Amino acid sequence: MSSHVVIAGGGVIGSSIAYFLRASDPTVSVTVIERDPTYAKSSSALSAASIRQQFSTPLSIQMSLFGIDFLRHIGDRLEVDGHKPSIDLHEGGYLFLATPGGEATLRENHALQTRLGANNALHAPHALQAKFHWLNVDDLAAGAYGVSGEGWFDGYGLVQALRKKAQALGARYVAAEVTGIERDGRKITHVQAGNGERYACDTLVNATGAWARRIAAMMGIDIPVYARRRSIFNVSSPARLTNSPLLIDPTGVYFRPEGKTYITGTSPSPDNDPDDLPLDEVDHDLFDEVIWPTLAHRVPQFEALRVENCWSGYYEYNVFDHNAIIGHHPDIDNCIFANGFSGHGLQQGPATGRGVSELILNGRYTTLDLSSLNWDRVLNNRPIVEKNVV
Ligand SMILES: Cc1cc2nc3c(=O)[nH]c(=O)nc-3n(C[C@H](O)[C@H](O)[C@H](O)COP(=O)(O)OP(=O)(O)OC[C@H]3O[C@@H](n4cnc5c(N)ncnc54)[C@H](O)[C@@H]3O)c2cc1C
Repeated sequence: MSSHVVIAGGGVIGSSIAYFLRASDPTVSVTVIERDPTYAKSSSALSAASIRQQFSTPLSIQMSLFGIDFLRHIGDRLEVDGHKPSIDLHEGGYLFLATPGGEATLRENHALQTRLGANNALHAPHALQAKFHWLNVDDLAAGAYGVSGEGWFDGYGLVQALRKKAQALGARYVAAEVTGIERDGRKITHVQAGNGERYACDTLVNATGAWARRIAAMMGIDIPVYARRRSIFNVSSPARLTNSPLLIDPTGVYFRPEGKTYITGTSPSPDNDPDDLPLDEVDHDLFDEVIWPTLAHRVPQFEALRVENCWSGYYEYNVFDHNAIIGHHPDIDNCIFANGFSGHGLQQGPATGRGVSELILNGRYTTLDLSSLNWDRVLNNRPIVEKNVV
């Protein structure tokens, strides 16, 4: 049992952990050190804020099943002083499309997802065409559509709701930068902050997202998590796509409705994906050369569209296997890492918060076992292969 927990980083991961800790045990003291209460550069505020069960590993599916349940009941769970937060959850579904080359994997993933309780349906091209009149299915073999449990929401709203509830339950938020970590052998003793304070801790949690590597380095640990810029383009179009889901093209380009407009993006090719690119710039070439042609092919009505707005955020990218690293490093007894979610951390925030709080309070997972995401696989070169990284 840990009495004083310091959490570095108060985005969705840090705030979810703070909330679950205080909700589970009001005697545990929780201090969240978050350098920017506006979250201007935080991934949680800059993401596409969507949730799906269409993953290829059982644990990712189960984490998102808990995620959707949490989001559906967020008003009751995170109510503060009679105010029930709303995050505009819209269960519009994901639509993963496959060409003949990807059909077997799509079917395999679908079988696993439905076995675990996800509500997805497989459609042949003619059925896709009937359901989504605006879709070009010429080169497709199948599509998997999230009938319920998948969709999008207000990601910034989720962070704020978790933070406010954690604070209402007694977690303390300090607006300061973590600048140093004091380690005595296998134990972290203090966290130093830019406000000149030193914070003693029984447990430290590294929840600093795309900056996790710097915090890990302060403890002498090398974590394979890098800041990889991803751009989102908000486009308007005269096209009216009835029942538009979040569509994942076989190329990896995605789009989804955002009010009366759409947001769209894709990951750059791996050989053109350097670390730490500035967030005040956007990859317009990627839009012109990859995204727009792909959208116009998949949805002919998108031939006419206009970029209204765009922004960039960081994926906290685990270059080892694109899955989160959650748990203790074998060299340090009292630090828990919750890093490297690689593009799906918002939806995994609730399950991570619950799991890490269990690990701290009980020394083990008591609900969903997250132990396969621990450091062992990284240090022993046993990657978890997730086929549906977007
Ligand atoms: C373009 C884009 C689209 C995405 N789309 C989705 C999606 O559709 N669905 C999904 O589930 N996920 C999505 N993600 C991923 C998701 O946003 C992240 O996985 C998730 O937000 C990570 O949360 P976090 O709390 O770890 O990181 P953050 O939200 O970045 O929080 C980390 C916090 O640590 C703070 N910090 C860093 N260093 C220090 C320090 N030294 N001292 C004090 N504080 C510090 C930062 O200020 C920050 O607030 C997307 C990400 C991007 C960039």
